[in-house]
Amino acid sequence: MKRFTKITSSIGPKSGSREVLEKMISAGVNVCRLNFSHDTGDVQGQKIDYIREIAAEMGRPVAVLADLQGPKHRIGNFETEDKFPIVPGQKFVFDSDPTPGNSNRVQLPDMDVIKSLKSGDRVLLNDGKIEMKVEKVNSDSIEAVVVRGTEIWSRRGFNLPDTEVATSVLTAKDRADLEYVLTKNPDFVAISFVQKPEDVVETREFITARTSHPVKIIAKIERPQAVDKLDAIIDAADGIMIARGDLAVEVPFEKVPAISRRIIRMCREKNKPVIMATQMLGSMVGSDFPTRAEISDIATAAYLHVDATMTSEETTISENPPFVVETMAKILENADIDSIENSQDWSDAEDLPENDWALSITVMAELNEAAAIVVFAETTKAATLISCRRPDVPVFAITREDVVANQLCLSRGVCAKCDKEMFESRDAIAAAKWFGLESGVLVIVDGEKISLRKLG
Ligand code: PEP
Repeated sequence: MKRFTKITSSIGPKSGSREVLEKMISAGVNVCRLNFSHDTGDVQGQKIDYIREIAAEMGRPVAVLADLQGPKHRIGNFETEDKFPIVPGQKFVFDSDPTPGNSNRVQLPDMDVIKSLKSGDRVLLNDGKIEMKVEKVNSDSIEAVVVRGTEIWSRRGFNLPDTEVATSVLTAKDRADLEYVLTKNPDFVAISFVQKPEDVVETREFITARTSHPVKIIAKIERPQAVDKLDAIIDAADGIMIARGDLAVEVPFEKVPAISRRIIRMCREKNKPVIMATQMLGSMVGSDFPTRAEISDIATAAYLHVDATMTSEETTISENPPFVVETMAKILENADIDSIENSQDWSDAEDLPENDWALSITVMAELNEAAAIVVFAETTKAATLISCRRPDVPVFAITREDVVANQLCLSRGVCAKCDKEMFESRDAIAAAKWFGLESGVLVIVDGEKISLRKLG
């Protein structure tokens, strides 16, 4: 296994057909992200059916991640044109009136946020290109003053970086999407605009009231309020997505790398997988070649030992999504090999107890120059813990449950296989051979039992 860092790919209009999905999975996609901001219901359901069929045909796990839209706010439409000029210093009003807007006012369809706003709060529009300051909050309108920006466009995002919004993390749309997608047994559900650990708890209660399928919850970190409560959110969630798109709007963009690095370190310490997301190969929407900055961004994520990187619109609306996946796989593979061959000191990256179980296994693999760690995995737990210690050798996880194998698709360096017979026979040698390993020492983990075996 050359690539340790996993690939999560967003699936959209140009990648939802069976043919393209098959090519993308062959090119290296480990987790398919279905973004419910764009499609819902049966359109997403069809893609899940294709992914399950393809994975079964290929005899390898592929995970399905349903990403809910969350409470993303947008302004309404404008009169005759799509955009209107504004000037810094002028007043601007957001109200509940659906009449098309103009240079002085526009509708804010979701007026619920009004209850959370106070004067002095910032309002950012159009990915942060426009900044306004709230002057007065009325019962059904917000009066603001323009600080920065020259034109306002219809339907653009409305971000409130200073405001803890008091509405549920699950909107009515999210609840309907979740009701539907839970009938399709997704491996992961991602929740957007998380602000606090209770948002994860609320989502988990919603899910467990509807299914016994062990869905894992990924909390997307994109609000400053979530950055302030990272510790508790990571504890509450099963994994984290660093959603750099909205994060770079809501916090000063120059702080995003440091926040990302902190999240990665904390996830490793807390044994939770972490996905680095957004604009990783964005230029490939219109080009066959990544920018130098994108190449470095992907490689840096691998060097920082994230579990997975992510493709966004470059695999939903570009002409050749499988080629984008190949490109990302190639960059990750080279960074992973270099990271292993020229082992770096990650001493700032872990704050672990001395008798950490998974770390002992990783050290044992290192001291014995093992070729792999084989885990007989009843659940995702042992393989995830070991993966979070970032061993330099692959972790082969043998399980008897498809969902366990699928969920391990998000864990760095883990290759999972669902095979009841192999799991029950506890034949580590056969398992290692199945993964293509012909010689070397294996560290075998079977519940509490740890042993060493030589292959070949
Ligand atoms: C992001 O903002 O980076 C992100 C991944 O969220 P979405 O694509 O759902 O807006």
